Amino acid sequence: MDILHSNIARIQRHLAFVTTDPIDWKLFVQVSSWAVTLFECYLLLRQYPLYSKTEPPPALAKYISKEDFKKSQDYGRDKAKFLLVSKIYSQLLESIMVQYGFYAWSWKLSRQLVGRFGYGPEYEIVISIVFSFVMYWLSSLPTLPLSVYSTFVLEQKHGFNKTTAGLFVADLLKGWAITLVLGAPFMAAFLYIFKWAGDQFVPWLMAFMIVFQILMVILYPTIIQPLFNKLTPLKDGELRNRVEALASKLKFPLKHLYEIDGSKRSSHSNAYFFGLPWSKHIVIFDTLIQESKPEEVEAVLAHELGHWYYLHPTKLMAISQLHVFSILTLFPAFLHAPPVLRSFDFPKEVAARPPTVLAFFLFQMILTPVEAVISIGMNALSRRFEWEADYFACILKDKLNDERMNDMGDRLATALITLHVKNLSTVWVDWLYSAYHHSHPTLTERLKELDKFRVQKEKKN
Ligand SMILES: [Zn+2]
Repeated sequence: MDILHSNIARIQRHLAFVTTDPIDWKLFVQVSSWAVTLFECYLLLRQYPLYSKTEPPPALAKYISKEDFKKSQDYGRDKAKFLLVSKIYSQLLESIMVQYGFYAWSWKLSRQLVGRFGYGPEYEIVISIVFSFVMYWLSSLPTLPLSVYSTFVLEQKHGFNKTTAGLFVADLLKGWAITLVLGAPFMAAFLYIFKWAGDQFVPWLMAFMIVFQILMVILYPTIIQPLFNKLTPLKDGELRNRVEALASKLKFPLKHLYEIDGSKRSSHSNAYFFGLPWSKHIVIFDTLIQESKPEEVEAVLAHELGHWYYLHPTKLMAISQLHVFSILTLFPAFLHAPPVLRSFDFPKEVAARPPTVLAFFLFQMILTPVEAVISIGMNALSRRFEWEADYFACILKDKLNDERMNDMGDRLATALITLHVKNLSTVWVDWLYSAYHHSHPTLTERLKELDKFRVQKEKKN
């Protein structure tokens, strides 16, 4: 522990200027957030002309009909336009909020609200929780029309939307309620640890975050997800037999096998697994079951189990812990930094002893460009994991010594194509756009690799 704390102290000495120097952080946030937004717009403009192509890539030509290709191009074009508009709108909004001291105003409002109930400024944690909700609310309301438009105009037009107005409002209210019920205690504990552990908060906060993540793994499927979707045990039959056999051969600790009514809201489809290391659940979208044959769904699950086999979720979790850890080691310099709050228009008496929640919030805004770069790295890693999982499906036959798995690669390819065509996913993708945004390789790339595996295998035999 001592080595940890002395290293953190060393980093802090390098960052001491944050605590003392009057840097124009507002300008920094404005410039860097616009830079990220404009770069994202540039990527959209690179991608946009590809929606005017009239022929699919040669590798896909035999799988996708002319009509489906045209539909996917139209959908992609509409989505790109919408994204461009909503990106600029959101950025403008944030920019105005930063420029005109909106955060300082929200803090003042929260203090007054809490003051009405007889709690003074010494109740920092209570004020902080109210502040977070004020911020969450006020910043989510202006973007609500975007979400309405996306669901009821854009997705509707292309035949994906299954959400009714009632369901939309119910989802929204449930989302707010969950944020309140889970967010308030989380926030209270988070802030309390800072107060209690003082300058040695890093290991304590890390431990807290890990416990919280594990708690979410348990709570999400059992309490939260059933609020939005219905999970029913997959009915007996060929698909269940196939999945159970596959899981048991791989020694995957399958506890429950569910079908989810994803089609209630949208007809985009997929499959996934979750749970604790010794007790896992597999969930398959009803849409996937309807659109693909059991042996193809099995191949999709072979891919999913490849993620489990190669410990991908564990690796991603370890990286995210490392990410949180690095953020926390940089944070102390910002924790006691009046100049940072001053540059965002907070009054002198608030800035003199910065409340933790404000310091953390502003610190995160300052980190925006760094986070954008990190997300590119994370996407690259995630794409690598996708290749590995595809590869896993292809070599299952040898792994399990089961002749029936010989065509797993082909089945996976068919399932991917079906999913892609049904979801009208974009077929032509700009490489830079994809590198920045996509956590999965494009369909064309995946089919090419699957083909390579097949050729390799044929050579071996
Ligand atoms: Zn995957």
